[in-house]
Order: sequence, then C-alpha cells, then structure tokens
Amino acid sequence: MRKPVFAGNWKMFKTPTEAAGFLHDFAPLVASSNRSEIVICPPFIAVPIAVDAARGSNIAIGAQDVFWLKEGAYTGEVSATMLAAAGCSWVIVGHSERRQYFGETDESVFKKTVAALDAGLTPIVCVGERLEEREAGMTENVLSTQFAGGLAGLTPDQFAKIVMAYEPVWAIGTGRTATPEIAGEAHRFLRDQVRSRFGDQTCQSCRILYGGSVKPDNIKGLMAQPDLDGALVGGASLDPAALAAIVNF
Ligand code: PEP
Repeated sequence: MRKPVFAGNWKMFKTPTEAAGFLHDFAPLVASSNRSEIVICPPFIAVPIAVDAARGSNIAIGAQDVFWLKEGAYTGEVSATMLAAAGCSWVIVGHSERRQYFGETDESVFKKTVAALDAGLTPIVCVGERLEEREAGMTENVLSTQFAGGLAGLTPDQFAKIVMAYEPVWAIGTGRTATPEIAGEAHRFLRDQVRSRFGDQTCQSCRILYGGSVKPDNIKGLMAQPDLDGALVGGASLDPAALAAIVNF
C-alpha cells in the first residue's frame, strides 16, 4: 500500500557533466523497476542537467535543501519556486549535515517544509539522533522533539504529502548501519508519533525512509522491517551500479 522511495543524496559531489554521465549509466539499470519511486538529489548546480538527463525515465530529481522565502536579498539561497521551475519535484529538508554544520533548527525545517509543499515539491524531512543522544537513552526524546518542532504543526493535508526519513546521525557516512531491528524500532516510534498527531489513516499511509550507510548488501534486511518504506542513500548513491542494486534489492 505504501510505495517505497529510494532517494540518492549526492551531497557535495559530482559536477554537472558527472551528473549527466551518472544518469546515462543509471537509468537503464532501473528502467524496469516500477515498484518504487526513484529520486536523485544532486547539488543545485547540477539540477538542470540532471532534469534533462532524467527526462522520459522513471527517475525524479530533487534538491538537497531549500530556503523558505520565495525571493529576495538572501545571498546564496534558492527558493522552492525556483527549484520547481528548474524541474525538481522533491527536496531534502533538515538533513543532519544541515542541522550540524549550517544551523538548521526544527523551526527552519518546518518553514522549509511548508515552502516546499506550497511550491508542489515533495519534502523528505529528516530526523535522527546523534550517537551521544542514543547512548544517553535519549533517542525517543530527540525524535519526538524533532517531530513536534519540524512536522507536527503541518495540517493533516500537508502532512499527507511529505515523506519522512529516519537518519541516525551515527550511521551517516560512517559505514555503521543501524541494524534492521534498531531501525525498525525507531520507525515504529515515529509512526506512533504520526498516529498521535494525525490519526490512524495518515499513520498507515505515511512513508518513512531509513538513511545511514545503506548499501546493496544491507538493504534487504532493512526493507524486511514492516515500518520501513525505502531509503535515503548517501555514499552508495554516487555509484550507478550500487544505487541500482539498492533500488532492485
Ligand atoms: C545521507 O546522506 O543521507 C546518508 C544516509 O549518507 P550515507 O548513506 O553515506 O550514510
């Protein structure tokens, strides 16, 4: 009932030419995969060429961040309207690297999510605990705080259009994947948060992706968890064959 999503987050990797080359190699590898949605999120500068290269395929293009205002004197920022006009249909919001290095807060996550929705983009809203928070037994506390500040203020109609991603910060780019059981437990907890705020129907239809060192050899175990609806993939998404193996797990 919930269509899985596999989204590649390229972070600050690949030039426009490299992005076009990736899509040229990747598209045929996933051409017959129709059980999932496939999204590639290149750096802003490579969005237009990626949109061109993905045209006519089953691959959608997203951005890695967005600003919440439409336009104005905000040097370096890109609005949701601009992303939509450039051909993006998805955007990652609240990635832990944005939270950690660029001052992203639950409040800015909320504003960015609303702006993305207003422009017709599907936001992938990331939440996740840091290692010291997990070790201090604060995982549920962190997740419920991020949910309350970043997502609970959406209307039910708005919430129905977003995708969540559980990304334990200690598993991102570290090669240390959460076990399927740890991921499954966090996903269950997040789904319960959705149920409490938005009701059972929305809870059943809401897609929650896992992110954190997803690789071809661990995706099957993760996807066996009933509350896990796909993956947000960083490092492994840079390689067409690896990402295709994840999508076609
Ligand atoms: C990410 O960037 O969202 C991510 C999960 O990275 P990695 O797969 O490299 O851990």
